[in-house]
This record gives sequence, C-alpha cells and structure tokens, in this order.
Amino acid sequence: MSAIDEVKQKIDIVELVGQYTTLKKAGRNLTALCPFHSEKTPSFFVYPDQQSWHCFGACSTGGDAFSFLMRKEGVDFGEALRLLAQRAGVALPSRPVQDARRDEKDKFYQINAAAAQYFHNLLLNSPAGEKARNYITSRGLNQKAIENFQLGYAMNSWDALKRHLTEKGYKESEIVEAGLLVANEEGRIYDRFRNKLLFPISENRGRITGFGARVLDDSVPKYVNSPQTPVFDKSSTLYGINLASSAIRQKNMAIIVEGYMDVIAAHQYGENNVVASMGTSITDAQVTALKKLSRNILLVLDPDAAGEEAMLRCIQYEDKFDIEMKFVILPGGKDPDDIIKESVETWRKLVTEALPVVDYTVNIDRNEAVNKLIPIIAGMADDLRRDRYIRQLERLTGIRYDQLESSVKAFRIRTSSKRPRTEAMARATKPFVSSPLEESCLALLVQHPELKSREIELLLPDYFENSANREIFVVWQQTDDPAALREQLDPVLQDSYDILSNKDKAILATRIEERYNDYVLRLREEYLRSVERKRAAVFALEAETKGAGADRRKLEEDGIDTSVRLGEIFAQRARKGRGTSKNP
Ligand SMILES: [Zn+2]
Repeated sequence: MSAIDEVKQKIDIVELVGQYTTLKKAGRNLTALCPFHSEKTPSFFVYPDQQSWHCFGACSTGGDAFSFLMRKEGVDFGEALRLLAQRAGVALPSRPVQDARRDEKDKFYQINAAAAQYFHNLLLNSPAGEKARNYITSRGLNQKAIENFQLGYAMNSWDALKRHLTEKGYKESEIVEAGLLVANEEGRIYDRFRNKLLFPISENRGRITGFGARVLDDSVPKYVNSPQTPVFDKSSTLYGINLASSAIRQKNMAIIVEGYMDVIAAHQYGENNVVASMGTSITDAQVTALKKLSRNILLVLDPDAAGEEAMLRCIQYEDKFDIEMKFVILPGGKDPDDIIKESVETWRKLVTEALPVVDYTVNIDRNEAVNKLIPIIAGMADDLRRDRYIRQLERLTGIRYDQLESSVKAFRIRTSSKRPRTEAMARATKPFVSSPLEESCLALLVQHPELKSREIELLLPDYFENSANREIFVVWQQTDDPAALREQLDPVLQDSYDILSNKDKAILATRIEERYNDYVLRLREEYLRSVERKRAAVFALEAETKGAGADRRKLEEDGIDTSVRLGEIFAQRARKGRGTSKNP
C-alpha cells in the first residue's frame, strides 16, 4: 500500500472536518455551515461512507480529506499530505536524494526574501529612504499596509544590494540568476534596482518570487519588474495573491486591478479580495490560478483598456474555463486607488453594479457585436452557457431569441461539418479499459502533453475524485514544459507519475483525441452521478427530519442542472452511436 493510501485509510474525514466547523448529524451523514463560504442555512455535507464532502451552496464542489485541507489551509497537495501523515502517524518515505530542482528554487526564494528584508529595512529606517517614505505617505498608505506588503527602498547605488547579499554568503551568479543583479557585456555586475520604491511579489504561499519597482522621479519607464527567473514568471503572477486568496474564497469573487498601488489601497480599506494582473491583459495561467479560489472574476478596467478585443477574449475565457466574468469600467481618468481612498462605499457600489462582459460588448457597437458574438457563442462547449448568452443578447439587442438561436445553429452546423470525425470512425472506438478510469485518462494526458493545447472537450479537476490524481492533473494543466512535469510534482507523486507514463503505452498512442473525448465524457458522467447520489442522500434526510438540510430550492435547481448535464452526455453518446449504456 502506498503512503498516500495508508494516510487515507487512517484519517477520518468526520474528525478532520469537525475541527474546522461544527458538524450536525443528518441521518447517515453530517451537515454544517460551509467552512468555505458564508451562509445561513447549511449546504455543506460530509459523507462518512465515502469519506468525502460536498458543498451544494456557492462552492458547488467537493472532494476528500486532502482537498478539504488544501482548501482550508491554503496549502498544496504535498503539504496537505504531510500534515495528514503527521496526524495519522504514517511515516512518509524519506528521500535520500533531494530533489535538486526544488533545492534550487528554495535558494532563489531565500535570496529574494533576504533582499526584500534589506529593502524594507531601508525604507523604514534609512535617511536615504526619505523620498520613498514621503511618496508613500502622499499616496495615503498607512504603516500596516507598508508592512503587510513589505514595501522597500533600493539605494541609489550600483552595489549596495550586491555587497549586502554576498556578505550574507550568496554567490554573485545566483543573485544574477534571481534577477536582482545585472551582468553586462563587459562582465560588470551591478544592482538592478537603484533609487526605487520596491514591491516584493509573492506566490500564493507567500514566498517572494520577484519584485516590481517604481521610480521616485519623473523618469520613464515608471515601473520595472524582475526579469523571468526560475521562480518568477510574469504571465502566471498575480500581485497580492498571497494576501487575497482566503478573502477571494470567502467572498467567492476575485477582483483584478492593474496596479500595485491599487491592490495595496484596496487591502488597506478592507477590500481583501483584490489582486493585480501584471499587465493590461489577463492570461490563461492567471485565470487558472484564480479559478481554484472562485469562479467569479471581476475585471476593473480604465476606459482605454476596455477595448473590444479584450472583451471578446474574456467571453472566450468564460467558456474555456467555465467561469463568470464581470467588468467595472472606471469613471474617466481615475485609478481604483483614487476611488477607494475617496470613498470605499463608491468602490463597493461599482463592484456591486459590475456588468457581465456581454453587456459591454453590445455597448461598443450593437450590430458589430452581434456579428462578432454569434461565432463565439456557437463555439461554446456548454449548452446552458450558450443558451444564457443568447438570452442576454436578446435582452440587449431586442433581436428575437429564435432568430439569434438559428444564426448560432447555422454557424455550428457549418463548422461541425468541417470536422473529419465520421460516424463510422466513432463507432470503431470501444472503451478499451474498464477501470480505473481516472488512471487511464491521466496516463493518456501524461503520455500526450500536446492534448493540452487542443481545443477539445473540457476536463475539470473536480472530475477526479482521488486527490492524488486530481493533483497530477492540475499540475499537468499548469505546466507549459511537459518535460518538466515530473519535476514539478511533489516527490510523493513521482512514483505514480512513472507508472502512468508507462501504462498501456502502445494502446494510448493511437486515436488519442477520440480517447481523450471519451474519457472526459465518462469521467463527467461519473462525477455527475456521484453528485446526484450525494444530493439524493440529502433529500432522503429531509424527508425524515423535515426542514433539516440545505435550501431545498437550491438543491432542486442543482438537481435540474445535473440532470440536464447528464442528459447532454447521453445525447453526445447517442450521436457517437454508442447508445446510452451506463457501463463502459
Ligand atoms: Zn460552500
């Protein structure tokens, strides 16, 4: 038995969850106010038989002990495993050969932390830091904000940091690689950040990955960042995420602004679910990271940035990542931090009144918008979302629903007939292995990383009931360099990875995309059925005890949603000519 299985066997989910929230008996199961979102009627359930949990409320997700702890403590899979192993008294296999890559990363985190502390101290205490202190005060930031965000000051010197860090024992070459020193062509090595206000940038666990820096005069560019390093990648970075993640979960919404100062001001005024993108447009990696915390994303834009292109891209994000996006377009010329400081009420009002992206697209130019939206709506994988968009478009343009719908249909038929997938080809596909489905699907993904970039059926982390599998899938999704996947997995998962990468190799090398689509369909079906069973257990309880349990209406709505989605799966099956048999 693997260490993971052993931990699983020894941990009781009831006991674990009971430490975070008060569980009440509910028939064979237990219920509680959801520990992840705020609510008045309990919609959170624990199922001792399956050792799982599910929230039927705003979270609308569930999992096992690992995923519970990951969410609750904001830790990654490896750390959750270690915490649980400790609890269960299970010794995890020690690793005599340390993961070199991990060590190397740790080194950069250490260098960054040392630099941040040095800069922070200069800002607070050095005479030279006065100009920076004055600037911060003029922007209305208080002491607590300066400390929370560990703001700093870099001396007007070519080697102040270099001397400080080398005295601490770090090698010049490492500091160069960390992006804090620059080596020019003549081999001269000097401080990258000079006479600047510094914003340390952290990953979600608070480890510093890089720095943003602002000039203290009128020179340009106003801002510079760390270059790409082994721990800093601008495109996947969200400034403030380390301080915002629990509020994003709690409020079930992430707000994205553009500037460092905007984030700091928002947090200073108690608006803690705010992060900044590291540029004007948001990226796949950023959406993927936020989606783990909340499916609701609100983008705050100044009117210049609110271009049509950006809007249309966001509609595609909604579909691709199954998220909901809204927009706030700021009154001309104002930054979020201006608005927040003037009146946090005004800010909250703007947030509450944020509109879905489709509303803005139509505002840009009604007719153009319809022409541009029809193909996008037609391309949406989710029937419900497609329908909702058509309804929104009807409301906004006054064009009749059936008219819009038939345009969308026409577009879908046109594009689907271009696909070479014939019915005979589909019929030839037999599900090649009955169990375990999750492992087979993962083996396919691991062996064919190119699947990630295709526009194919959407696979969600939730479909993997087993947290170890879910973790491998999430890392697979996030890793751009497939060769590095093994390295990026927690060491305890590397054995599983090795097994997966050799499993059924010859078979999985054929009809890759069809297999993938088939796996996704079956995983989705199993997932929906499992949610359905859990929901049924809640209903059964309600019949017994009258009134206990979650908001009935919400449960019923969810039920309709689940059966609609199950219905879609059967329809898809039927189209593929495989009937509606449940068993593979
Ligand atoms: Zn919840």
